[in-house]
Amino acid sequence: MLSLESPRWAELRHAYGPAADVPGMLKSLVSGDARQALDDLHGVVAHQGSATTSAYAAVPHVVAAAEALSVSDSLEHLHFVGVVASAVAPPQIPDDLRAAYHAALERGLALAVEGLDSRDTYEDAVAALQTVAALSGKPRAARRLVSLLNEAAELFCPSCNTHLEMDLAARPATLARHNISFGGASSLVVPWTVNAGLSRNADLAWMDEFVVRLGGHQGRLEAELAMLGGTGPCPNCGARIDIYEAWQA
Ligand SMILES: [Zn+2]
Repeated sequence: MLSLESPRWAELRHAYGPAADVPGMLKSLVSGDARQALDDLHGVVAHQGSATTSAYAAVPHVVAAAEALSVSDSLEHLHFVGVVASAVAPPQIPDDLRAAYHAALERGLALAVEGLDSRDTYEDAVAALQTVAALSGKPRAARRLVSLLNEAAELFCPSCNTHLEMDLAARPATLARHNISFGGASSLVVPWTVNAGLSRNADLAWMDEFVVRLGGHQGRLEAELAMLGGTGPCPNCGARIDIYEAWQA
Protein backbone atom coordinates (compact mmCIF):
# COMPACT_ATOMS: atom_id res chain seq x y z
CA MET A 1 0.00 0.00 0.00
CA LEU A 2 1.44 3.35 -1.02
CA SER A 3 2.51 5.39 2.01
CA LEU A 4 0.57 8.61 2.46
CA GLU A 5 3.93 10.36 2.80
CA SER A 6 5.30 9.05 -0.51
CA PRO A 7 6.32 11.55 -3.22
CA ARG A 8 4.82 9.03 -5.68
CA TRP A 9 1.37 10.59 -5.14
CA ALA A 10 2.43 13.73 -6.98
CA GLU A 11 3.30 11.62 -10.03
CA LEU A 12 -0.18 10.10 -10.08
CA ARG A 13 -3.18 11.92 -11.52
CA HIS A 14 -6.70 12.71 -10.49
CA ALA A 15 -9.38 14.39 -12.59
CA TYR A 16 -7.88 17.85 -12.18
CA GLY A 17 -4.12 17.21 -12.18
CA PRO A 18 -1.37 15.80 -9.98
CA ALA A 19 -2.69 13.82 -7.02
CA ALA A 20 -0.53 15.36 -4.30
CA ASP A 21 -3.68 16.35 -2.36
CA VAL A 22 -5.16 12.84 -2.26
CA PRO A 23 -3.22 11.71 0.86
CA GLY A 24 -4.90 14.57 2.73
CA MET A 25 -8.33 13.25 1.72
CA LEU A 26 -7.37 9.74 2.86
CA LYS A 27 -6.19 11.07 6.23
CA SER A 28 -9.53 12.86 6.64
CA LEU A 29 -11.30 9.61 5.85
CA VAL A 30 -9.85 8.07 9.00
CA SER A 31 -9.43 10.96 11.39
CA GLY A 32 -11.55 13.80 10.03
CA ASP A 33 -14.87 14.30 8.30
CA ALA A 34 -15.27 10.93 6.58
CA ARG A 35 -18.40 12.02 4.73
CA GLN A 36 -16.63 15.01 3.21
CA ALA A 37 -13.57 12.90 2.42
CA LEU A 38 -15.67 10.40 0.50
CA ASP A 39 -17.35 13.22 -1.40
CA ASP A 40 -13.91 14.59 -2.28
CA LEU A 41 -12.68 11.19 -3.40
CA HIS A 42 -15.74 10.69 -5.60
CA GLY A 43 -15.46 14.19 -7.04
CA VAL A 44 -11.73 14.23 -7.70
CA VAL A 45 -10.28 10.72 -7.75
CA ALA A 46 -13.22 8.92 -9.38
CA HIS A 47 -14.81 11.97 -10.99
CA GLN A 48 -18.26 11.14 -12.45
CA GLY A 49 -17.59 7.42 -12.22
CA SER A 50 -14.30 7.48 -14.10
CA ALA A 51 -11.10 6.09 -12.63
CA THR A 52 -7.74 7.86 -12.42
CA THR A 53 -4.29 6.48 -11.59
CA SER A 54 -4.51 7.94 -8.08
CA ALA A 55 -7.71 5.93 -7.55
CA TYR A 56 -5.68 2.71 -7.70
CA ALA A 57 -3.42 3.99 -4.94
CA ALA A 58 -6.36 5.27 -2.90
CA VAL A 59 -8.41 2.05 -2.97
CA PRO A 60 -6.18 0.06 -0.54
CA HIS A 61 -6.47 2.92 1.97
CA VAL A 62 -10.24 3.14 1.57
CA VAL A 63 -10.62 -0.63 2.05
CA ALA A 64 -8.41 -0.49 5.15
CA ALA A 65 -10.63 2.28 6.52
CA ALA A 66 -13.73 0.19 5.75
CA GLU A 67 -12.27 -2.81 7.57
CA ALA A 68 -12.00 -0.72 10.71
CA LEU A 69 -15.74 0.05 10.62
CA SER A 70 -18.79 -2.06 11.39
CA VAL A 71 -20.23 -3.81 8.34
CA SER A 72 -23.22 -1.49 8.32
CA ASP A 73 -21.01 1.62 8.32
CA SER A 74 -18.74 0.46 5.51
CA LEU A 75 -21.21 0.72 2.63
CA GLU A 76 -20.10 4.16 1.39
CA HIS A 77 -16.43 3.24 1.53
CA LEU A 78 -17.02 0.06 -0.43
CA HIS A 79 -19.23 1.93 -2.88
CA PHE A 80 -16.28 4.16 -3.79
CA VAL A 81 -14.13 1.08 -4.38
CA GLY A 82 -16.88 -0.38 -6.58
CA VAL A 83 -17.08 2.81 -8.65
CA VAL A 84 -13.35 2.62 -9.35
CA ALA A 85 -13.54 -1.09 -10.18
CA SER A 86 -16.43 -0.66 -12.63
CA ALA A 87 -15.27 2.58 -14.32
CA VAL A 88 -15.68 2.81 -18.07
CA ALA A 89 -12.40 3.00 -20.03
CA PRO A 90 -10.17 3.16 -16.94
CA PRO A 91 -6.49 4.10 -17.23
CA GLN A 92 -3.88 1.33 -17.04
CA ILE A 93 -2.91 0.34 -13.52
CA PRO A 94 0.71 1.38 -12.83
CA ASP A 95 2.88 -1.69 -12.18
CA ASP A 96 3.95 -0.56 -8.72
CA LEU A 97 0.31 -0.20 -7.57
CA ARG A 98 -1.18 -3.33 -9.09
CA ALA A 99 -0.57 -5.92 -6.35
CA ALA A 100 -1.89 -3.79 -3.49
CA TYR A 101 -4.87 -2.67 -5.57
CA HIS A 102 -5.96 -6.19 -6.48
CA ALA A 103 -5.42 -7.46 -2.94
CA ALA A 104 -7.62 -4.60 -1.68
CA LEU A 105 -10.36 -5.46 -4.19
CA GLU A 106 -10.43 -9.02 -2.84
CA ARG A 107 -10.72 -7.83 0.74
CA GLY A 108 -13.35 -5.29 -0.27
CA LEU A 109 -15.38 -7.98 -2.01
CA ALA A 110 -15.35 -10.16 1.11
CA LEU A 111 -16.58 -7.23 3.18
CA ALA A 112 -19.26 -6.32 0.64
CA VAL A 113 -20.62 -9.88 0.50
CA GLU A 114 -20.60 -10.08 4.28
CA GLY A 115 -22.73 -6.95 4.46
CA LEU A 116 -25.32 -7.88 1.84
CA ASP A 117 -27.96 -8.98 4.34
CA SER A 118 -27.52 -6.09 6.77
CA ARG A 119 -28.77 -3.14 4.69
CA ASP A 120 -31.65 -1.18 6.15
CA THR A 121 -33.17 0.27 2.99
CA TYR A 122 -33.84 -1.14 -0.44
CA GLU A 123 -31.57 1.49 -1.96
CA ASP A 124 -28.71 0.46 0.29
CA ALA A 125 -29.31 -3.20 -0.51
CA VAL A 126 -29.13 -2.52 -4.25
CA ALA A 127 -26.04 -0.36 -3.73
CA ALA A 128 -24.44 -3.20 -1.77
CA LEU A 129 -25.18 -5.68 -4.54
CA GLN A 130 -23.85 -3.18 -7.06
CA THR A 131 -20.58 -3.05 -5.14
CA VAL A 132 -20.38 -6.83 -5.04
CA ALA A 133 -20.91 -6.90 -8.83
CA ALA A 134 -18.24 -4.28 -9.43
CA LEU A 135 -15.72 -6.06 -7.22
CA SER A 136 -16.56 -9.41 -8.82
CA GLY A 137 -15.46 -8.16 -12.23
CA LYS A 138 -18.99 -7.59 -13.50
CA PRO A 139 -18.98 -3.85 -14.32
CA ARG A 140 -21.94 -4.02 -16.67
CA ALA A 141 -24.08 -5.71 -14.03
CA ALA A 142 -22.98 -3.03 -11.57
CA ARG A 143 -24.06 -0.23 -13.91
CA ARG A 144 -27.42 -1.91 -14.62
CA LEU A 145 -28.10 -2.15 -10.89
CA VAL A 146 -27.45 1.57 -10.49
CA SER A 147 -30.06 2.21 -13.15
CA LEU A 148 -32.64 0.20 -11.23
CA LEU A 149 -32.71 2.90 -8.58
CA ASN A 150 -33.79 5.50 -11.12
CA GLU A 151 -37.44 5.51 -12.07
CA ALA A 152 -36.66 5.83 -15.76
CA ALA A 153 -34.03 4.33 -18.01
CA GLU A 154 -33.08 5.00 -21.61
CA LEU A 155 -32.46 2.53 -24.37
CA PHE A 156 -32.32 2.33 -28.14
CA CYS A 157 -34.26 -0.16 -30.24
CA PRO A 158 -31.62 -2.41 -31.86
CA SER A 159 -33.82 -2.78 -34.96
CA CYS A 160 -34.91 0.80 -35.76
CA ASN A 161 -32.63 2.73 -33.35
CA THR A 162 -35.55 4.72 -31.91
CA HIS A 163 -34.64 6.39 -28.64
CA LEU A 164 -36.86 4.84 -25.99
CA GLU A 165 -37.55 5.42 -22.34
CA MET A 166 -38.61 2.86 -19.82
CA ASP A 167 -40.85 3.78 -16.90
CA LEU A 168 -39.69 1.47 -14.14
CA ALA A 169 -42.17 2.80 -11.60
CA ALA A 170 -45.13 1.55 -13.62
CA ARG A 171 -46.44 -2.02 -13.16
CA PRO A 172 -45.92 -3.52 -15.61
CA ALA A 173 -43.03 -1.32 -16.65
CA THR A 174 -43.63 0.52 -19.92
CA LEU A 175 -41.64 1.47 -22.98
CA ALA A 176 -42.28 4.70 -24.84
CA ARG A 177 -40.54 6.96 -27.33
CA HIS A 178 -38.12 9.09 -25.39
CA ASN A 179 -39.19 12.55 -26.55
CA ILE A 180 -42.93 12.21 -26.18
CA SER A 181 -43.06 10.13 -23.05
CA PHE A 182 -42.89 13.35 -21.06
CA GLY A 183 -45.74 14.88 -23.02
CA GLY A 184 -48.36 12.42 -21.92
CA ALA A 185 -48.83 10.67 -25.29
CA SER A 186 -50.10 7.66 -23.45
CA SER A 187 -51.38 5.84 -26.54
CA LEU A 188 -47.78 5.24 -27.47
CA VAL A 189 -46.92 3.80 -24.10
CA VAL A 190 -47.17 0.05 -24.45
CA PRO A 191 -46.64 -2.38 -21.63
CA TRP A 192 -43.83 -4.85 -22.13
CA THR A 193 -43.91 -8.31 -20.82
CA VAL A 194 -41.38 -9.81 -18.52
CA ASN A 195 -39.67 -13.16 -18.95
CA ALA A 196 -40.01 -15.38 -15.94
CA GLY A 197 -36.49 -16.75 -16.14
CA LEU A 198 -33.46 -14.78 -15.11
CA SER A 199 -30.88 -17.11 -16.56
CA ARG A 200 -30.74 -15.85 -20.09
CA ASN A 201 -27.35 -14.27 -19.62
CA ALA A 202 -24.45 -14.74 -17.29
CA ASP A 203 -24.87 -11.41 -15.47
CA LEU A 204 -28.47 -12.10 -14.48
CA ALA A 205 -27.70 -15.67 -13.47
CA TRP A 206 -24.89 -14.32 -11.32
CA MET A 207 -27.18 -11.72 -9.66
CA ASP A 208 -29.80 -14.37 -8.99
CA GLU A 209 -27.33 -16.19 -6.75
CA PHE A 210 -26.70 -13.13 -4.61
CA VAL A 211 -30.27 -11.87 -4.38
CA VAL A 212 -31.13 -14.63 -1.90
CA ARG A 213 -28.70 -13.02 0.54
CA LEU A 214 -30.58 -9.74 0.64
CA GLY A 215 -32.93 -10.76 3.40
CA GLY A 216 -36.06 -8.65 3.54
CA HIS A 217 -35.22 -6.85 0.28
CA GLN A 218 -35.05 -10.05 -1.73
CA GLY A 219 -38.63 -10.00 -3.04
CA ARG A 220 -38.57 -6.47 -4.40
CA LEU A 221 -35.20 -6.89 -6.05
CA GLU A 222 -36.30 -10.16 -7.66
CA ALA A 223 -39.25 -8.30 -9.19
CA GLU A 224 -36.96 -5.51 -10.44
CA LEU A 225 -34.49 -7.97 -11.89
CA ALA A 226 -37.34 -9.73 -13.68
CA MET A 227 -37.94 -6.45 -15.51
CA LEU A 228 -34.24 -6.04 -16.18
CA GLY A 229 -34.17 -9.53 -17.66
CA GLY A 230 -37.32 -9.07 -19.72
CA THR A 231 -38.12 -8.36 -23.32
CA GLY A 232 -40.57 -5.82 -24.68
CA PRO A 233 -42.00 -4.60 -28.00
CA CYS A 234 -40.52 -1.49 -29.60
CA PRO A 235 -43.28 1.18 -29.68
CA ASN A 236 -42.02 2.24 -33.11
CA CYS A 237 -41.31 -0.96 -35.08
CA GLY A 238 -42.66 -3.74 -32.87
CA ALA A 239 -39.39 -5.65 -32.68
CA ARG A 240 -38.77 -7.56 -29.45
CA ILE A 241 -36.13 -5.79 -27.41
CA ASP A 242 -33.84 -7.55 -24.95
CA ILE A 243 -33.95 -4.97 -22.18
CA TYR A 244 -30.70 -5.96 -20.52
CA GLU A 245 -28.73 -5.75 -23.76
CA ALA A 246 -30.32 -2.52 -25.01
CA TRP A 247 -30.11 -0.64 -21.70
CA GLN A 248 -27.89 2.43 -22.00
CA ALA A 249 -25.94 2.10 -18.79
ZN1 LIG B 1 -37.80 -0.39 -33.11
